[in-house]
Amino acid sequence: MNDVVADKRIPVGISACLLGQKVRFDGGHKRSRYCLDILSECFEFQSFCPEMAIGLGTPRQPIRLVDLPEGRRAVGTKNRDLDVTEALQDYAEQVHKEATNLCGYILMKGSPSCGMERVKVYHPNGNPNVAGAGLFAERLMQLHPALPVEEEGRLKDHVLRENFITRVFVYHDWLTQVVPHLTLHEIIQFHSRHKYQLMAHHYQGYKNIGRFLAQEAPRLSLEETADRYIHELMGYLKKPATRKTHTNVLMHLLGYLKKHLDGATRHDLLSAIDDYRTNKVHLIVPLALLKHYLKRYGSEYVQQQVYLDPYPHELGLRNYI
Ligand code: SF4
Repeated sequence: MNDVVADKRIPVGISACLLGQKVRFDGGHKRSRYCLDILSECFEFQSFCPEMAIGLGTPRQPIRLVDLPEGRRAVGTKNRDLDVTEALQDYAEQVHKEATNLCGYILMKGSPSCGMERVKVYHPNGNPNVAGAGLFAERLMQLHPALPVEEEGRLKDHVLRENFITRVFVYHDWLTQVVPHLTLHEIIQFHSRHKYQLMAHHYQGYKNIGRFLAQEAPRLSLEETADRYIHELMGYLKKPATRKTHTNVLMHLLGYLKKHLDGATRHDLLSAIDDYRTNKVHLIVPLALLKHYLKRYGSEYVQQQVYLDPYPHELGLRNYI
């Protein structure tokens, strides 16, 4: 990951307890080895503990989400008079306003503040009722829908992990390469580089955004175009790519080589793609072969596709999907 380190690591927010900080209600932490030992090589983590930030201190009385007649509230498990609902939501607004460089956010699961989903919400009588999102996380996601967000626990799933890291790199590319010198030309160039990445995640989204840029964008202001483009793109990328959709992209990429390959080489490539489609090998196998030939014979357009190298290969993500 030397390229990224030399370049500058990508700023990513994270629940402070995942970095091993002793900020939990019981004075403990939830250190994530994957975040600290692997992802910190390419992500520059900025930690936030909403409960500490609003002055709860540690150790502290735990809080929980309760659906009260006046709405969903974050209250003390023992003392209902402790109500930190607005404080958590206000802190999310503060983080949103101040940490504008973030390209992603990793949250602690199950927390009434930081949980992204499936956080227990209690009935006023004390019984678990439904599931929801922690109040800090929920507000942050509402304020910043383009921001890639994931829970640390879900990063154990190879497909979700690859999806999240891909989105962080795409968003970082957008914030650093397009936003500082925004023009319609830059947006179209960016889109052009991400076409196959988007196609792998969401074929209809790929068509919709293409249509938007060609037909609607010229009638909108630059800011409206950029805003709508990035929100739609990041929304479509949330859908993880599958073997079927990757296979479709691989076949498209192979199409760029048809004039340059002899029958035997084309057969080898098709076999590798089919082995991937039928679950015999991981994505890295057909992709490594394709990249080898695209480097030699591919047009400038196909060689610049982010899909070929969406993140540092040292992360090894395509060895598992
Ligand atoms: S889950 Fe969030 S609020 Fe709870 S200790 Fe971790 S960082 Fe703090």
